[in-house]
Amino acid sequence: MNLDGALERVRVVLSRTSHPGNIGAAARAMKTMGLSQLVLVNPQSFPDPVATARAAGAGDILAHARVVATLEEALEGTVFAAAMTARKRELAVPGRWAREAAADLVGRTRTGGDVALVFGNETVGLSNEEVMLCHMPVKIPVSATYSSLNLGAAVQVMSYELRMAVLDPGSVPGVEFEPASFEEVEGFYAHLDRAITASGFFHPSNSKRLWPRLRRLFGRIRLEKDEINILRGMLSAFEKK
Ligand code: SAH
Repeated sequence: MNLDGALERVRVVLSRTSHPGNIGAAARAMKTMGLSQLVLVNPQSFPDPVATARAAGAGDILAHARVVATLEEALEGTVFAAAMTARKRELAVPGRWAREAAADLVGRTRTGGDVALVFGNETVGLSNEEVMLCHMPVKIPVSATYSSLNLGAAVQVMSYELRMAVLDPGSVPGVEFEPASFEEVEGFYAHLDRAITASGFFHPSNSKRLWPRLRRLFGRIRLEKDEINILRGMLSAFEKK
């Protein structure tokens, strides 16, 4: 299996980072493992001399880092996103361990799209809304008595697991069909939302749990490009009636 370039297709997304030192530490962790794409969602302070100092020889990763306003923007063009979280989430897709998830992510880069690892804020972690924009929660195995790694350390562990997956192609699952992109999946959700609202099935004010459940349902399946086209074709046909 040819995994050349797989690590360049991995986006490390840091959401709402409070401490610029952690951004620098993440850049250094990434560079040592061969990753290069850093995306910062609304960081408290960036660029920042503290980040530059902590990055040491990985200043180029900081120089090429992309700063965006929302997680949706950070995930545009990706075909798969993992939400890094130590906490158990209600109504999330069943979580995976770091090692298995890393092999899965590396496998998905073979479709030509980017994949993303999404890390949360140092104090509050990822919000439930952020977790729901990703395909699955991923946990680094930790002690039951203290489960929260420093952000830079969490990036290091996941970057290492990705590198190990590339070094052991036998661990990497194949991907047979073309996965739908983030925008295609979100476009389908918006279409479904319009259709079920117009039909009277869905009342946004009195069913707060429907959308988390629908995202969980479709998130488990991991929709392919062709399947999105079929589903949207069906919705359009229903809408015409
Ligand atoms: N106090 C926060 C954790 C912040 S640590 C909370 O309760 O969620 C900063 C980020 O590092 C987390 O949002 C997560 O993305 C990552 N992280 C830390 N420990 C982790 C672990 N054991 N597994 C997966 N991600 C982890």
